[in-house]
Amino acid sequence: MRITALTGGVGGARFLRGLRAHLDRTPTLSDSTITVIGNTGDDINLFGLRVCPDLDTVMYTLGGAIDEEQGWGRADETHAVQGELAAYGAQPQWFGLGDRDFGTHIARSQWLGQGLSLSEVTARLCARWGLPDRGVRLLPMSDSPVETHVIIDGESPSPQSPQSPQRAVHFQEWWVRMHAAVPAQKFVAVGMDRAAAAPGVLDAIREADIIIVPPSNPVVSIGIILGVPGVRDALRGSAAPVVGVSPLISGAPVRGHADACLSAIGVESTTQAVAGLYADFLDGWLIDNADTPVVGFAPRLEVQARLLWMHDLETTADIAGAAVDLALKLRRTPPV
Ligand code: GDP
Ligand code: CA
Repeated sequence: MRITALTGGVGGARFLRGLRAHLDRTPTLSDSTITVIGNTGDDINLFGLRVCPDLDTVMYTLGGAIDEEQGWGRADETHAVQGELAAYGAQPQWFGLGDRDFGTHIARSQWLGQGLSLSEVTARLCARWGLPDRGVRLLPMSDSPVETHVIIDGESPSPQSPQSPQRAVHFQEWWVRMHAAVPAQKFVAVGMDRAAAAPGVLDAIREADIIIVPPSNPVVSIGIILGVPGVRDALRGSAAPVVGVSPLISGAPVRGHADACLSAIGVESTTQAVAGLYADFLDGWLIDNADTPVVGFAPRLEVQARLLWMHDLETTADIAGAAVDLALKLRRTPPV
């Protein structure tokens, strides 16, 4: 079976590891392949290097190299390079980059500099971690740089002109340095107007047997991927059922600041409202038992409630299994 999934970083990566585990333990599904379409809106240039946080989180998690506690970055990490950069006063200091992780960014930047596309570079990096051997193909959503910027209120220039001008900061600065505590006015995907889906992305959606939207941030992970020209139309037109997993439990993100992102786009922090963002292509939606069942806006949407907290690999494999089962059930349902 061909499974296609859209993903951000930590939430999506954990889910995908559970999905792979579920497929591996299910004899009828073990030869299934997963094509992962990763968000690159979080990408940033730091110290002359191209850093792709969400792609790397997926790669390290599925490759068994992730720092389990943090959910991102490398296990057994050291920070000698960062210490050296700090000693020189090189900026920024607020973004954590470990020594092992630096190796990834240096290799990526060198290959990009030699003219390889981000898709080609990502494939090279993933080969080291054995993703292809495990039937997982990681595709960046686009080969052209797209960077999410956040519009926030700036400092008042002077007491005489108290009107606060707005300014844009890179998503990482808002998320990591400001902890998303400064209210976001809006998100802008800089470069999206010139972006095209990376090779294989639209085909992976069109040719999938089932499509899954893991519990990733609906605004700055999934929302950004959905903005790539052609992606949303491909999802709408796909013959494969699309099943999503709610990233909110009891109306709150399990980790991160998805609520701050939702409020910036004027959407309530409820699993129903998140499903509403996907309503035009969603066929199935898994919600947590703690949330009010989603009703009303999409009569054809099949909603199932279960526990959705991914606290260990087995539980996560069960959640992924429920998403696959729901998709397979919907696949058998003839179109109305
Ligand atoms: P990021 O790029 O690292 O922020 O990661 P993602 O966008 O892939 O995922 C972030 C989302 O994952 C957040 O909105 C979290 O609420 C959600 N998430 C994290 N852990 C869990 C979990 O155990 N269960 C569910 N349902 N969602 C989770
Ligand atoms: Ca991210």
